[in-house]
Amino acid sequence: MKLTIMGAGTMVFGKMLGAGKAFAADAIEKISASATEWKKKLTPEQYDVLREEGAERPFTSPLLKEHREGNFVCAACELPLFPTKFKYDSGTGWPSFFDVVPGHVETKSDHKLLSERTEYHCARCGGHQGRVFKDGPQPTGLRYCNNGVALKFVPDKA
Ligand SMILES: [Zn+2]
Repeated sequence: MKLTIMGAGTMVFGKMLGAGKAFAADAIEKISASATEWKKKLTPEQYDVLREEGAERPFTSPLLKEHREGNFVCAACELPLFPTKFKYDSGTGWPSFFDVVPGHVETKSDHKLLSERTEYHCARCGGHQGRVFKDGPQPTGLRYCNNGVALKFVPDKA
């Protein structure tokens, strides 16, 4: 059994893992489900945004007025994505954040429109959340423009 050799060999193995792959993304165990399963779990509005990359109408999300301390989590799998301290009023009509919990969203580029904007989704369930633009406030200069229907708010315990 090679398991008995736990000294230097284990450390080298650990280092190799770290060098070869992004650690943050690896730390999250992916969830996958069929369309039928998601349809059971989500409302039609949530399904449209999270699984079909739909966009909600601006100024419709109750989360625009949510300013309590807490976390905005993925509506599908409840992975925390944005603490309240990252939220700001962008004036766009969609909940907006200038930063995200590290490793909790993944991105892919979207070339469907003339200007490039980057799609991002929950790192655990793959649910579409919104798009990130480079016109946000400091310190990041980023604007995560998120569909409110794709999020749930979990207030901190007082
Ligand atoms: Zn999720």
